[in-house]
Amino acid sequence: MKLTQAYIITIGDELLIGQTIDTNSAWIAQKLNAQGIHILRRVAVADEKAAIITALDEALAVADVVLITGGLGPTADDITKPLLCEYFGGKLVINERVLEHVKGIFSRRNRPFLDRNMAQAEVPDVATVLYNRMGTAPGMWFEKDGRVVIAMPGVPFEMEAIMEDEVLPRFKERYVTGAIVHRTTITAGEGESFIAEQIKDLEEALPSHIHLAYLPGPGIVKLRLTGHGNDQELLQKEVEQLQFVFAERIQHIVVALEDKSLEEILGAALLEQKLFAGLAESCTGGLIAHKLTNIHGSSNFFRGSVVCYLPPVKERLVGVPHELIEKHGVVSSEVAAAMATGARNSLGTDIGFGVTGVLSPSEDYPVPTGTVWMAVADKNRVVTKEFRFHYDRIRNKELAAQNGLLIMLRFLQNKL
Ligand code: AMP
Ligand code: MG
Repeated sequence: MKLTQAYIITIGDELLIGQTIDTNSAWIAQKLNAQGIHILRRVAVADEKAAIITALDEALAVADVVLITGGLGPTADDITKPLLCEYFGGKLVINERVLEHVKGIFSRRNRPFLDRNMAQAEVPDVATVLYNRMGTAPGMWFEKDGRVVIAMPGVPFEMEAIMEDEVLPRFKERYVTGAIVHRTTITAGEGESFIAEQIKDLEEALPSHIHLAYLPGPGIVKLRLTGHGNDQELLQKEVEQLQFVFAERIQHIVVALEDKSLEEILGAALLEQKLFAGLAESCTGGLIAHKLTNIHGSSNFFRGSVVCYLPPVKERLVGVPHELIEKHGVVSSEVAAAMATGARNSLGTDIGFGVTGVLSPSEDYPVPTGTVWMAVADKNRVVTKEFRFHYDRIRNKELAAQNGLLIMLRFLQNKL
């Protein structure tokens, strides 16, 4: 079966110079992939007529559907609409439904409706209008020789709304899409080469329609199995079974059998065990608390975090003994442990966590730059672990936060 081939073109000078990161094509690709549409290529081009036309010609030569974002605004640098109109041999006409929608938005926002805004309601007469409930610029659907070209605004939430409301449902109806199944296993504690060695024979024995990808991240490696086929249910079973075989081989490093963030996985584990966590964060400055509180319902497993950056705050708010800091240094196993038990006591939780470290070069500490001590405690035990991070301050902080989530999870799984 031949899969529908898609080509994504993102338009905007800001994308080429890296001022704006192109998140649109990633978002679109994920949605298409999930619907069994194959993504042939993703390109970014400047707000220039010649560049856009070249990209379009190339795309239409090889793809069934071309998705474009950007350049639909009302200012002079936005040239996509007239260009597409000309490309498909149409002319711009006011669309009454769009005009009403645009005027409605302006009056609700108490903004004057300018002549230039009239242009927002112009649509090529050869295009089908794709309603934009989140903004003024409508999306457009063109067809040529059985191929489809879709233009959408660059603003991500507007593009997403048009995709969800108008584009994806039409694709579902129109294209026979193949089945694609992804299953992701999250591991921690070993590098990808080590893992590759452990599962070499399993990987080599994979059938040709199932592939394995290694995706290293901060503190973790994700193993993603992807299967292509015709029968969704059958494929689902096949890939899941294989996932279990792989996971069993490397059990000691498996953290989760689904593709979720570490904070989500930790949150679910705390909820399941009916436990509350409380933190004492020094060098992570509350970043772990930030991640945990991004989860809806975090109040059911997370009680709070004390950001105790300077030693006197560690002493006063989490009860770390002054002498302990004097004796072992503030970045030490002993202080991390005292922070974990202190957080547990002062926040009244089942699980306590402490993190203390030095993230960028400093004369103030006797330990090497990048040294971070963490500890997890419950009523029976305290476990500490040392890390050494080698990047800049911000990346080291992110690594510390990810590893903090990870060691709490490992503690709950009795793997620490
Ligand atoms: P435009 O439709 O070209 O006027 O784009 C409006 C705004 O959307 C730009 O200023 C960017 O901030 C944002 N934007 C445009 N293209 C993208 C993209 N590919 N990914 C993420 N944001 C984008
Ligand atoms: Mg633009």
